[in-house]
Amino acid sequence: MKNTLLLLCLYSVVSFAQAQSKIAQVYIAPFRHDAEGAYTLIHDDFGAQYARGIEEYIDTMTYNRKLPICFAAITGECDQEDWTKAKAMIAHGHQILNHTMSHKCGQPQNWCTFGNWDEKDFPTEIDKSTELIWKNTGKHPAFFIFPFDLSTDTMVNYLRAKHYLGARAGKVNMLNDKKLNDPFLLNYTVFRPGEPHTALNEFADKAIQSKSWAIRVMHGIEDESWAHITAEEYATHLNHLQRQIQNHKLWMATLSDVVTYQYIKETSDVAITDENKKGQATQITLEPLNAKLPDEKLLTNHSLTIVLTQTGSTPKSITQETQAVPFEVRDGKIIMEVNTLLHEIVLTY
Ligand SMILES: [Zn+2]
Repeated sequence: MKNTLLLLCLYSVVSFAQAQSKIAQVYIAPFRHDAEGAYTLIHDDFGAQYARGIEEYIDTMTYNRKLPICFAAITGECDQEDWTKAKAMIAHGHQILNHTMSHKCGQPQNWCTFGNWDEKDFPTEIDKSTELIWKNTGKHPAFFIFPFDLSTDTMVNYLRAKHYLGARAGKVNMLNDKKLNDPFLLNYTVFRPGEPHTALNEFADKAIQSKSWAIRVMHGIEDESWAHITAEEYATHLNHLQRQIQNHKLWMATLSDVVTYQYIKETSDVAITDENKKGQATQITLEPLNAKLPDEKLLTNHSLTIVLTQTGSTPKSITQETQAVPFEVRDGKIIMEVNTLLHEIVLTY
């Protein structure tokens, strides 16, 4: 009798747990496609003759693998051929960044033989350089990359006033949080001469392990740029990134795409607002929050990845007004890409 009672008790506990797990839950994915970590690859010194591997190899190698990168242009070094190439790279999904007009040191250094720049050079090194990118590619660079990563607070504040989206002026050898922090103080890690190329894969994997955003800085390949590597070594890295993306571990994106996603995440809360008799969500609502956004022209989109966990069958369709919402089912989760400008999401079974 005692045993029967115990079994009965155990049975109720188990059924209660099962009933609990049937309750649907919804959340905003920390990173797009509900990846565990994010990765941005920046190639500095586009336009310089010594870094021509960016246009000769890197563009094609990344485009063939559908991996978007950022390239930081020294605008004073770009000739007409470089601008044509920059436009083609942008059409491939890559992002151009402003790396100043003449690549000088933003703070005096013993080793710096390239000359220094300061406030009096802002009209050239920042403004004219921005205009050249705008005029030649039709794109605002959105992010500023300080040569040799040497900057001052005055420079960063000038960029804020000039409506940039951000800058690589944070801490070196540090990851970035999944949540929006100051995008003008982005942390990064630089690939240095003599480092084993395996450090590239390790740093991307660190983003996955710590569920954060890694920004990797490199220069060219198969050229004379600082810390260049071979095409074969670079391919090893890209193939590793591709595998991590296919395994849904990593989201590889440009600086603008990651920062846009971080901003958009702050604009909405998400909740299940209607269910059917089986306890499946039939309506999800994005509740607008009071978030301050940068200039609309600097944002790349208004979409978010929403994740719904529930047991039972998957929806036949998901819609927002008349738009079909793309979704996939993975590990028992329904992962959808929604437009945050339309608040109601309807699920039919
Ligand atoms: Zn540089």
